[in-house]
Order: sequence, then structure tokens, then C-alpha cells
Amino acid sequence: MERRGSQNRDRGSSGERGYGRGPQTMHKAKCSDCGEETEVPFKPDPDRPVYCRECYAKRKPKRY
Ligand SMILES: [Zn+2]
Repeated sequence: MERRGSQNRDRGSSGERGYGRGPQTMHKAKCSDCGEETEVPFKPDPDRPVYCRECYAKRKPKRY
């Protein structure tokens, strides 16, 4: 009986897929600036303003 103990089976590769690739789920939201409907790739947080692409680009955050 021979055992190949050094042959690992894909371990430690969890959480590698599903991020940064493929279609993202888009959520509809209303831009807090211009009021236009937009879609954001994240779930809009009611406590935070959501901006459309244009407004988001306009308000590029400076440094924290
Ligand atoms: Zn906007």
C-alpha cells in the first residue's frame, strides 16, 4: 500500500472564487446627489448616500 501523503487536494483555496469576476449583482438605488436612478454593485445602505457614477466621480473622496 502506497500513500502519497504529499499530494494535497486543493486545500486552502476557499474564498477564491466569486469575487472580482463574473456578473455582479446590481442593486437599484437613487443617487443622493442628482436623484437619478442608478445601479450599484453593492447593497445600498439606507444610512449611506448612494451616488451614480457621475456624482461618485465628482465626489472622489480625498484622504480620510
Ligand atoms: Zn447622481
